[in-house]
Amino acid sequence: MSDNKHSGRGLSGKGYYIALMLCAAAIATTSYLYYRNTTQAQQAVVQETVGVDIPAGTMGTEDVAVVATQPQASVPATDATTPATVKKPLQTVSPVSGETITGYSMEALSYNQTTRDWRVHNGIDLAAEDGAPVCAAADGEVYTVYEDDSLGYTVVIRHNDGYTSCYANLTEDTAVMPGDTVTMGQTIGYVGSSAIVETALGSHVHFSVTQNNEPIDPAEFLAIGSG
Ligand SMILES: [Zn+2]
Repeated sequence: MSDNKHSGRGLSGKGYYIALMLCAAAIATTSYLYYRNTTQAQQAVVQETVGVDIPAGTMGTEDVAVVATQPQASVPATDATTPATVKKPLQTVSPVSGETITGYSMEALSYNQTTRDWRVHNGIDLAAEDGAPVCAAADGEVYTVYEDDSLGYTVVIRHNDGYTSCYANLTEDTAVMPGDTVTMGQTIGYVGSSAIVETALGSHVHFSVTQNNEPIDPAEFLAIGSG
C-alpha cells in the first residue's frame, strides 16, 4: 500500500508539472493571440487614419487651384472692355446758308415752275448766289461726281449710319473727286445753273438725302445739327 502511495504521490507530482506546463502554454498562447489581435487592430486604425488624410490633402490642393484660376478668369473680362471704341456721333451742317425755296415732297406731287407740271421733289432747294461755295453737310467719302440729265452737275457723299447726301445744280468744276474723304463744312463744289428742270427757281442748290437707299427729308438730316 505504501508503494502505491509512493508511486501515486510520484505520479501526482509529474501530473502537477505537466499541468503547470499546460497552463503556461495556454497562457502563452492566449497572450500571443491577444497580442496578435491587438496589433491587427492597431494596424487597421493606422490604415483608416491614412485613408482620411489622403482626401484631406486633395481638398487642400483643390482649394489652391480655385484661388489660382480666379485672377485668370477676370483678366479676359477686363481686356474685353478695354478695346471698346467710342463711335463719333454724326454731325451735320447746311451746305449753304440760304433759305429753303422748295420743300421735300415725295408723298405728294408739287408744281414745277420750270417744267410746268406736277411731280415729286426728292430734296430741298436752298437759295445761294451763283458761284458760291457748297460744303459737305457731314463727314464722309465722295461716292461719285457726275452730270445728271435733269439736275446737272452733281456730287454724292456717303456718311455713317447709312446716310448719303446729294448736291446738284453745281458748276462743272467741282472741288472733289470720287474716293475723296471730306469733313463737315469742306467745300465740294460751286453753285451753278446746270439743273435744266429747275432753272426757273433762280440760283440755288438742289440738296437731297437718303438713308439705307430710301429718300428722306433733308431737313431731318440737317436737324441732327452740330451739337
Ligand atoms: Zn430741287
